[in-house]
Amino acid sequence: MSLKPEELAALPQAKTGRRIAVRLKPKGLQALRHGHPWVFEDSILKLSHEGEPGDVCALFDEKGVFAGAGLYDPVSNVRVKALVHGRQENLDATLIKRLAAQALAAREGAIPPETNAFRAVNGDSDGFPGIVFDLYADVLATKLYSAAWLPWLRPCVEAFFELRPELKRLAVRLSREIRKDAAKLYVHDGMVLPRGSSSEVVFLENGIKFEAVPAEGQKTGFFLDQRENRAEVGRLCQGRDAVLNLFSYSGGFSLYAARAGAKKVLSVDFSRQAVEAMKRNFQLNAEHPGVARCEHEEIAADAFDALQKLHESGSLFDVVVVDPPSFAKAEAEKPGALRSYARLCRAALKTLRKNGVLVFASCSSRVSADELFETIHGAAASAGRPLKEFKRTSHAPDHPAKFKESSYLKCLYARA
Ligand code: SAH
Repeated sequence: MSLKPEELAALPQAKTGRRIAVRLKPKGLQALRHGHPWVFEDSILKLSHEGEPGDVCALFDEKGVFAGAGLYDPVSNVRVKALVHGRQENLDATLIKRLAAQALAAREGAIPPETNAFRAVNGDSDGFPGIVFDLYADVLATKLYSAAWLPWLRPCVEAFFELRPELKRLAVRLSREIRKDAAKLYVHDGMVLPRGSSSEVVFLENGIKFEAVPAEGQKTGFFLDQRENRAEVGRLCQGRDAVLNLFSYSGGFSLYAARAGAKKVLSVDFSRQAVEAMKRNFQLNAEHPGVARCEHEEIAADAFDALQKLHESGSLFDVVVVDPPSFAKAEAEKPGALRSYARLCRAALKTLRKNGVLVFASCSSRVSADELFETIHGAAASAGRPLKEFKRTSHAPDHPAKFKESSYLKCLYARA
């Protein structure tokens, strides 16, 4: 392991001293017994004492019978993140290592060849409520959504470095809400270990090279969750004349289309940084004849504006990929999000050649797959371009969504 012990010592250490005894109301117990990792504040009957983020909680029923164990999170509605359900088991570094090994084992055979970047732990659905781990070649990238994980980061990192000897660097991302708590423990968003090293990495996905900077950028630097959809778009783009990739980020879908032989690919993203990354990713893959031959154009612009201009200039594409960011982060934003999806679908169809393929994805967790699909079917029909749907996809195997709340990704493929 190349991360030296003294580097790891920079990470805060969990206190395994006095545990918080937590008595649960029946409704909290029921969720826990069903394997759900969230113990809400209002399902707690009694707490032995107040604790700090990451303190171990022993969970009991009303009569004092042991029901599980988890990590305390004093600022979240989800007051305890449960890791142990039912059976007596210590919540310690040994358990963390077993859970990490289990998550890695679940991915064996699910990651395609010539791919060395994938999600190793998808939070709740892998028994790690509030934290994710991604592997990018020799970089372990983590994103913490709860301060409860700060003191447990060290055993997690130790476990992954032991289980995956190719790992040499660690990149840490923190959700906005926990940055203050983290600073007190000398952990900051964008931290890279060993100190002084960068997290920049070139990795392979289905034989295509991508560059990412896990300590910066969106998510942990790349949208690993779209790998299967990118591969499918590659298959659909074989021998096509023109492909439009909206919300292209670092060019994932565009590169698959180019490698498959699409003659022209137009990518649109309003982030200049994303456009620069996309250019570099095209250069990295010049060894693929399709990529070398492809006429690739990048536009740094708002996707709605770009669609308007493309329509006005009469541009038409054989395949249009629409993969916008989440439009609804809160329930109240849902109606507006559905209207935006409908508008986007109608505008995208105006640039789609007759009988072309529309690929429409959404990562809004507040919008269900049914709601999204109904909305875009309705929008297309009202625009006189009814969709002939031929495929729907959801979560990739390394992004399992075991609980209703964890599910966000859906994608529809249709001819129109
Ligand atoms: N398809 C990408 C991931 C897309 S993420 C992949 O496979 O990697 C969403 C992207 O949309 C981000 O890069 C963000 O910069 C961009 N974006 C968000 N709002 C936009 C808008 N209104 N117009 C253009 N790009 C936008």
